[in-house]
Amino acid sequence: MPDCLFCAIAAETIPATRVLATDRVLAFRDISPQAPTHVLVIPREHYPDVAALAAGDAALLHEVMTQAHQVAVAEGIGSSGYRVVFNTGRDGGQEVPHVHAHVLGGRSLTWPPG
Ligand code: AMP
Ligand code: ZN
Repeated sequence: MPDCLFCAIAAETIPATRVLATDRVLAFRDISPQAPTHVLVIPREHYPDVAALAAGDAALLHEVMTQAHQVAVAEGIGSSGYRVVFNTGRDGGQEVPHVHAHVLGGRSLTWPPG
């Protein structure tokens, strides 16, 4: 998809700090981390959001989720716990229209804190 930031990261025309990669999925560190671990997991192929990915290629969504857990294990938070978030649409706070899972952890994410 022309002019898509995450397509450009997948094509390595824009740099990113890679955490993990498979033939179809890429994980890289969020440029503005909201937690000690904040990694984005994307399919290399362009889908605008998680609903489109679920409808278009369920096996690829499965791989994104499997790799999200692999990221957590590699980051040492597979047991302590983590959060996987797919922001979707305007009110969901989605800024980049290429589906991505945020993997967040390394601190308590419960609310209220405690
Ligand atoms: P969302 O608001 O769910 O679309 O999330 C987009 C995320 O992409 C934000 O958390 C940004 O900090 C992150 N981001 C934007 N540009 C880059 C970049 N060049 N490399 C890594 N992460 C980025
Ligand atoms: Zn894209």
